[in-house]
Amino acid sequence: MTDNGAREEMRSAYDPSEVEERIYRGWEEGGFFKPRGGERPFTVIMPPPNLTGELHMGHALTAAVEDALIRWRRMLGDDTVWVPGVDHAAIAVNALVERQLDEEGVSRHDIGREAFLERVWDFVNASRARIAEQHRRLGASADWEREAFTLDEARQRAVRQTFVNLYEDGLIFRGERMINWDPVGQTALSDLEVEYRDVESAFWYVRYPALGEDGEPTDDYIVIATTRPETIPADTAVAVHPEDDRWRHLIGRMVLEPTSDRPIPVIADEAIEIEAGSGALKVTPGHDQGDFEIGERHGLETLNILAPDGTLNEHAGRYAGIDRFEARDRVVEDLEAKGLIEKIEPYTHAVGHSQRSGAVVEPIVSEQWWVNVGPLAEPAIAAVRDGRIAFVPKRFERTYLHWMENIRDWCISRQIWWGHRIPVWYCEAGDCSETIAAVEDPDACRTCDGPLRQDEDTLDTWFSSGLWPHSTLGWPDEDAEDLARFYPTQVMETGYDIIFFWVARMIMLSLYNMRDFEGGDIPFETVYLHGLVRAPDGRKMSKSFGNVVDPLSVIEQYGTDALRYALISGTSPGNDQRITDDRVEAGRNFANKLWNAARLVRTLAGPDADLELPPAGDARLRREDRWVLSRLERTVGLADELLRSYQLAEALRQTRDFFWDEFADWYLELAKLRVREGDGVPLAVAAHVLDRVLRLLHPFMPFVTEEIWQRLAEARPDPDGAPQLIVARYPVADSARHDEAAERDLAAVQDFVRAIRNERAAKRVEAGRWVEAYVVADGAAEAAGDLAAAIGQLARARPLHVVAGASDAPSEGVVTAVLPVGRVVLPMAGLFDLEAERARLGKQIGEAQDEVRKLDAKLANEQFRTRAPAAVVAREEERLATASSRLQGLEESLAEIS
Ligand SMILES: [Zn+2]
Repeated sequence: MTDNGAREEMRSAYDPSEVEERIYRGWEEGGFFKPRGGERPFTVIMPPPNLTGELHMGHALTAAVEDALIRWRRMLGDDTVWVPGVDHAAIAVNALVERQLDEEGVSRHDIGREAFLERVWDFVNASRARIAEQHRRLGASADWEREAFTLDEARQRAVRQTFVNLYEDGLIFRGERMINWDPVGQTALSDLEVEYRDVESAFWYVRYPALGEDGEPTDDYIVIATTRPETIPADTAVAVHPEDDRWRHLIGRMVLEPTSDRPIPVIADEAIEIEAGSGALKVTPGHDQGDFEIGERHGLETLNILAPDGTLNEHAGRYAGIDRFEARDRVVEDLEAKGLIEKIEPYTHAVGHSQRSGAVVEPIVSEQWWVNVGPLAEPAIAAVRDGRIAFVPKRFERTYLHWMENIRDWCISRQIWWGHRIPVWYCEAGDCSETIAAVEDPDACRTCDGPLRQDEDTLDTWFSSGLWPHSTLGWPDEDAEDLARFYPTQVMETGYDIIFFWVARMIMLSLYNMRDFEGGDIPFETVYLHGLVRAPDGRKMSKSFGNVVDPLSVIEQYGTDALRYALISGTSPGNDQRITDDRVEAGRNFANKLWNAARLVRTLAGPDADLELPPAGDARLRREDRWVLSRLERTVGLADELLRSYQLAEALRQTRDFFWDEFADWYLELAKLRVREGDGVPLAVAAHVLDRVLRLLHPFMPFVTEEIWQRLAEARPDPDGAPQLIVARYPVADSARHDEAAERDLAAVQDFVRAIRNERAAKRVEAGRWVEAYVVADGAAEAAGDLAAAIGQLARARPLHVVAGASDAPSEGVVTAVLPVGRVVLPMAGLFDLEAERARLGKQIGEAQDEVRKLDAKLANEQFRTRAPAAVVAREEERLATASSRLQGLEESLAEIS
């Protein structure tokens, strides 16, 4: 109930700012966001927003969709829980705090790990509180007491347990591999964190001088095309195809790495493409993935010439200490001076950039921690193939499967401080080489009791969010109540842009951790993928474009329901949408329409009306009552069906259209007439329709529906005793109310009214004027007869004659509209004051005649015709034609009414 007590008048307009906070508090105080029992559990785990600051429109869409599903299921009586949470966003937050430090002129290394992490926690705590508050503003009915954080104690335990299990199963290993190195963030990146952008660069064709079989210099050489001359100092071979006639004679000999004249072998490898470039490849195993593999095949040395900050290191010889981009110029200069550059061709190619720092990423070989994902991918592929996990829309299953079938090992270590520190310790004692992976921090080496040192690295942020569906429910404690009750979850709703980052990893890690869980291993039954919310101009929202629409300022201006209406009405699985003012305004207008309709019903009903709906078949129900109740039940059935197939926008649209176009525009208008005559039944019907429509709309527009519903409930208590709409029952379609005859009849009545209105508009009849009309009703005569008064009122037709056949209506001096259900006939004389109209037409005819005469004379003038430019003459001829046809039309109109 509202705090303000019963019988308080409804304000003339809906004011979200007066309602939303109070309503939300009422829900929270009622404990309605918690599971409330029920046969079936329904669980949604919120994708944790990054703790980098404010919620954006994408989060608002996520909240709107998930809250709609949760509210719908809660009203269906399911045991619902929506678990909220936030992500520590390792690299993003680390970079953000590093930038703050940078502005203060210090680095994280200056202040040390501990002080750095303190700074991060300050930021994180403030950001966390803000995000929870923003979710409340969005109306999210999440269970805040279950709120999880990817880096809180419970999640730390889950992460460590998973790491140790994978390690002990041999699925996590440490190894030297090619990784993507971000020299600005100074950390390894997974393949997914690298974005490819086209960069204008060049192909440098470089000669590598060949040595003779005796090892002495010769005039012979091999030409190699490269886009990265700065890596030449790291070359350890040149490779050619064994069948390449140009270079076959050099196979097995040595050439000189041209910056330092270091001899390197020419090797033959079938993987080299004869057609590409010069057909010869410089092999740089330290800085190229493909070359690394060639190096492995041929036992080549791997040289790493890059320091973590992107300068060249001591292995680069005379280029040591120089930044990689400057080194490129220097190498080219030196080679030009030696006459070893054959040519330079401009070339545009895709270059990997760090998703976070924007720096050009360098492939380097480095010792990192890896997950061997092959064995994890297999069951994850099977779960989707056999239909235990379904994607909405289905086309994304192909995307997922293609990715999973070609998946590569996952680099999980990061050289940053903010995150889950890798739970591995190394023994520091003498020559003991013990390595321990453990859930609890060990005190000493288990072999020699010597001192331990923990690995410095942290885990990829997606490692912890990959555990989200079970870590939020209490795993690794397999006896946790939530796990038993709410796992597997029903729907994972997220953006299609993070299928690989997140969805795939949740499936793999959940199937692994939960493989022996009694309730089932899959993390969720359905993956619902929403699209991006784009700016009104259709582009991606971005601060640099200046087109960011902030959800909270939209809420300030229009209210939360208006924003949610806009987001839901624009969403369809897997497709992007634009957020526009029009749609938000449509949401606000709809909230107002609901409010006004409810207000009208309350006002008409007064304090003591009997709002008990007569049962189906009761004689007090007239044709229009049966019609609106029938249409209502069809809408109820449709909305439920649409929600079950995740067509939220369509469910909202159908409900809105029924409410606005049928109930408000027609039924309430008809009801008003009867209430005036003292009939109370239409009020009971209207209150019933409102109640059910509010229930249907509650998942989408929770605030305005709750506020209205509570006010109506004062006069018409909920039959199940629900204290608030949020926990009232979702309607079930009642087919006993279906009435096809009434629907057909009312459709005909609407057609008649619309036809009269159209004719009035076509003849520009003043809005207030009553016109005489005949309705030739054919098959719908009975309905039209019963509703004649209403048709007359709605079409402003008086007197209104309902007749059986066309012969009963006049045929001279009339306008007629023929409809599928009959026709309407309007005597011309009734449409306007004939005298005045004749006078008006007569005056216009005179003016038109004058114009025709003038143009005739002008065009008959020989001088004008010969001297004026042809275009001018043509224009005058056109004007004459227009004037003549207008004159003809006016004369015909006059003849009609004479
Ligand atoms: Zn030891």
